[in-house]
Amino acid sequence: MKSKGEKVKEALEHGRNTFTGKSYSSTYKTLLSHRKKLPVYEQMDEFCECFSNNQVMIVVGETGSGKTTQIPQFVAHLNSSQTEGKITVCTQPRRMSAITAATRVAKEMDVTLGAGVGYTIRFEDRTTPRTFLQYATDGALLRGDVHEQTLATDILMALLKGLVKKRRDLKVIVMSAATDSDKLQRYWNEGSAIKVLTFRVTCRTFPVKIVYTKEPEPDYIEAAIRTVLTIHYTEGPGDILVFLTGAEEIEEACIRLENDEYLKTSGIGPLVCIPLHASLSLQEQKKIYDPPPPPRFIGGPPGRKVILATNIAETSLTIDGIVYVVDPGFSKEAIYNPRIRVECLLVNPISKASARQRAGRAGRTKPGKCFRLFTEKDFQSELEEHTHPQILKSNLSSVVLTLVKLGIKDLVRFDYLDAPAPETLMRALELLTYLAALDDDGNLTSLGTIMAEFPLEPQLAKTLIVSPDFKCSNEILTLAAMLSAPVVWRQPRGQQKEADAAKALFSVPGSDHLTLINVYNEYKSNVHDKNWAHSHYLSLKALSQADKARDLLQDLMEQFDIELVSESDPQKLPGLVSQALVCGFFMQVAHSVKGSGTYLTIQDNQVVSPDPSCALGAKPAEWVIYNEFVLTTRPNIRTITEIRPEWLLNYASNYFDLKYFPDGPTNRALQN
Ligand code: ADP
Repeated sequence: MKSKGEKVKEALEHGRNTFTGKSYSSTYKTLLSHRKKLPVYEQMDEFCECFSNNQVMIVVGETGSGKTTQIPQFVAHLNSSQTEGKITVCTQPRRMSAITAATRVAKEMDVTLGAGVGYTIRFEDRTTPRTFLQYATDGALLRGDVHEQTLATDILMALLKGLVKKRRDLKVIVMSAATDSDKLQRYWNEGSAIKVLTFRVTCRTFPVKIVYTKEPEPDYIEAAIRTVLTIHYTEGPGDILVFLTGAEEIEEACIRLENDEYLKTSGIGPLVCIPLHASLSLQEQKKIYDPPPPPRFIGGPPGRKVILATNIAETSLTIDGIVYVVDPGFSKEAIYNPRIRVECLLVNPISKASARQRAGRAGRTKPGKCFRLFTEKDFQSELEEHTHPQILKSNLSSVVLTLVKLGIKDLVRFDYLDAPAPETLMRALELLTYLAALDDDGNLTSLGTIMAEFPLEPQLAKTLIVSPDFKCSNEILTLAAMLSAPVVWRQPRGQQKEADAAKALFSVPGSDHLTLINVYNEYKSNVHDKNWAHSHYLSLKALSQADKARDLLQDLMEQFDIELVSESDPQKLPGLVSQALVCGFFMQVAHSVKGSGTYLTIQDNQVVSPDPSCALGAKPAEWVIYNEFVLTTRPNIRTITEIRPEWLLNYASNYFDLKYFPDGPTNRALQN
């Protein structure tokens, strides 16, 4: 008798498409020949056996071994002959990876994207009732966590761990590239009667030679550029992957590399720079799969491709053909500091585990080299062993709201893979209580119940829900959609001035929030003009994403009877929008420090500067509300709107109770 794996293999390699009944296309066959070379393909038989005999399994395999694209297909095949209506769901930490994986797999399976194979991300659902394989961000599954989707993975896993005990027909595969599979195994075995099996994908990888710098590098971008050029001049063929920390650094490095004089004049082969970060369009991101450039002339020295990427390239994406990795040893992370209630974007040294993972990218197709831009001594003594899990670093208010909604009573003893600091949990509970989402006993209020249904951070959800009281729910709806989309302002290389001038046209003095609403309205009135967004230095992708988000949020508003209204007097409207914002963001207020150009945050007395991009205008506002606090080289607040202090006392009186409010400059200013 044929084994399960043999049957799947037969279905893949012969006959007709199990899912469509049609014969396979030539694209299918080409892709299949590529898939057959992937490590998991060789272990299909073993995998199918393990999957059939276990409810929970952990699959560990190198990035690029086929976990994301192949394993869910095997499972879909194993399920295809059984019960109707069974669905395989594969969660992804990022929106982009959910879309790329679904697109790729639909092609590989010869089915239409959005029908048989689909994806679900926040504000976009491309599945139908006939979908049998669904890629979804874990945040979308959990109910849209805005900032940190990797955090949702942890929570989702804990919930699934509880669920598999009750639902014996539910199967879970936890897939990981990480080296800490022991921790996962321990976690799943702890307190559960279910046997958990670890399945290892055996990958053929090639040795990677590690090269350290002799001395610490004072400027890692400079050092990275120098290293790329040296590789290009002196090393054999193969593409280069450079790890940088963010979009700005990446764009800067691209410009500097492309303008290198020697490169242009020395007759060496061409070098093509490809940026890779989350704010690029899918089209732009796809360029990483382009072949390297041809020689400048027939028989000339070969061209080379350099990919300059953020951490996305560390575990989420596989790029074939990389032989050289340049690793400055840093990454940018959002880290929440509960003491000062601030989520900061910080550039931090990576962990040893990350450095090894990065180096591994060089040995996928042949022996490679990894140039670490730090000393071996620093690697040994300065880098931590593992990266800290996201849950230990995040603002948990969205997650806590979700957990309370799911009926988790004891947040402290919840079965976390890594338990967050009690202080962080406390801060989240405090915020939710001040927002009146939770009552004093920690139960969900009726307001909180509705807030939890909105895929928005709690402050914004609250603002939206109360906005009809201020006759501006139409405007706040637009704002919520714009804040949920990626940044709309485009800043193309070398066109800073033009971009700034274009932005100034939309600017509403004193309010970035109103500016965003303005941009959206202008976009809608010019929607027929395909060139409009581009010529106004706006991202069409971000705007259409905002548009989709707006539709979805509007549906939710209807569902909960939240009226859609606009004040008819245009003079009054801006003030009303700002007042509605105060109802949600009263804990994110800053007060100007006379004559200094800086502000003091009310709760924690942090000195902050408004980001240069803000629409504050010439005369600084005395009181402002802000959407983001970012710690780059110094503390910045972003997306700011001027407010009046009496609104704080009117709309957040239980928070701004002057009797209990700490004595200090803010209290005195409020007293006045
Ligand atoms: P893993 O999840 O183990 O990191 P994946 O299943 O994502 O691995 O990828 C397996 C292989 O499939 C990659 O090495 C790459 O060759 C190929 N691949 C995946 N996605 C794409 C894509 N969008 N375009 C081209 N090739 C892809």
